[in-house]
Amino acid sequence: MNTSDKRELICISCPLGCQLSVDVSDGKPVSVSGNQCKRGIVYAESEILNPRRILTTTIRIKGGVVSQLPVRTKEPISKDLMMQAMRELRKYEVNAPVELGEVIVSDLLGTGVDVIASRTVVKAE
Ligand code: SF4
Repeated sequence: MNTSDKRELICISCPLGCQLSVDVSDGKPVSVSGNQCKRGIVYAESEILNPRRILTTTIRIKGGVVSQLPVRTKEPISKDLMMQAMRELRKYEVNAPVELGEVIVSDLLGTGVDVIASRTVVKAE
């Protein structure tokens, strides 16, 4: 059976935030309207077929002025991997000091995306 649907999205590819209307058939985008440039089409297609997000969380840090280090993926990863990625990151513990932007985990779950520190944490005195 052929299923059709209409999805409303806000394009987040630039600050203009165009409201997109996407016709979806059998889970695939067939037409996009409301976009003011081609990036809106690329965004809508990606959002329907393989939505991706930046993952932000914390991991344990030893010997620092705080006990949790805020981290994030350097690039967006598939939303389908979010729970698995959170479970994986719970296994990690790093030692202070850590610099803002330092790679904490390389190639998270084989995605090719690194996890980096979102802040600097100095050693506790
Ligand atoms: S469709 Fe183009 S102009 Fe509109 S928000 Fe997306 S990138 Fe910006």
